[in-house]
Amino acid sequence: MLKAPVLKSPLLKSLVRAAWLATALVAAPAVAQPLLSQSVMRVTILGSGTPVPAPDRFGNSTLVEAGGQRLLFDFGRGASIRLWQLKVPLGGITAHFLTHFHSDHTGGLPDLWLTGWLPPAYGQRRTPFVLIGPPGTAALARGLTQAFAADIAIREADEHDPAEGIAFDARDVAPGLVWERDGVTVVAFANDHGAAVKPSYGYSIAYQGHRVVLSGDTRYSPVVAAQALGADLFLHSVTIIPPALLAANPGYRAIFEHLAGPADAAHAFADARPKLAAFYHVGLNGDATEADLLGAARAVYDGPLVVGADLMRFDIGATVAVVPFEQAKR
Ligand SMILES: [Zn+2]
Ligand SMILES: [Zn+2]
Repeated sequence: MLKAPVLKSPLLKSLVRAAWLATALVAAPAVAQPLLSQSVMRVTILGSGTPVPAPDRFGNSTLVEAGGQRLLFDFGRGASIRLWQLKVPLGGITAHFLTHFHSDHTGGLPDLWLTGWLPPAYGQRRTPFVLIGPPGTAALARGLTQAFAADIAIREADEHDPAEGIAFDARDVAPGLVWERDGVTVVAFANDHGAAVKPSYGYSIAYQGHRVVLSGDTRYSPVVAAQALGADLFLHSVTIIPPALLAANPGYRAIFEHLAGPADAAHAFADARPKLAAFYHVGLNGDATEADLLGAARAVYDGPLVVGADLMRFDIGATVAVVPFEQAKR
């Protein structure tokens, strides 16, 4: 078991922590277990980060496993790497769901789609890539197919990779029930990511009386909170932008106005009272820390709450267990 070193300088501390985390992620065992054992639902944060190209927080992506199905929500930078760290073949995702079109949620999509088609163990998709999202999703799939037409044509001719495996089954969906298979349901709902960022969805996933809600990118929204009322797990996006940074760089203004701060997210948690609340798309800007995040949230919400991290897992059954990756045995 690796132990994090204790250091005094905050900068050195964060650099070493990042390096230590990278080592721990590589060194920790990941044993493939495609089907769930004791838990009814399993949620793994693949990427808890933002557009920041950070080594310890990859782009936003969340894997939900239930009833033998693997459902993937958003595809930020590095989603393919995190999936394969879990020994989940990229071609083994049952359906893919997009919340909105910001690039920190789609940047990993071409990689996942193209690499998942390749024949080695990490790929192996032989059926169309099911992609479900707001209006514009099918156009995105058509655009990707056009952009990568040369690679697709070469691999079909040269490697004889099956055409069905690189085809998209892309569906533009309105809010409501968007997935129902063998007792697993997914409901899309409109969140509030600002007037200019529409459409933008969150998702509620249910199976055998248990429910997980992903806020998507949103400000405080009573609609989102209502969706999460009494959920087992409520994952909410959050961002902290220190006032000095906001003043120094006007580019942060739109981000600040489009996303929940810790008190806003905590407000949604207080409304919904889930069994467990977690921040899953974590924007720590400037010198903001996880302690700042929790401190601000705790002023509003006193229920069970964790700050998500890459490859943090939640096993949902009679209870909701939090399993950091170092301890994860799948
Ligand atoms: Zn966004
Ligand atoms: Zn985002």
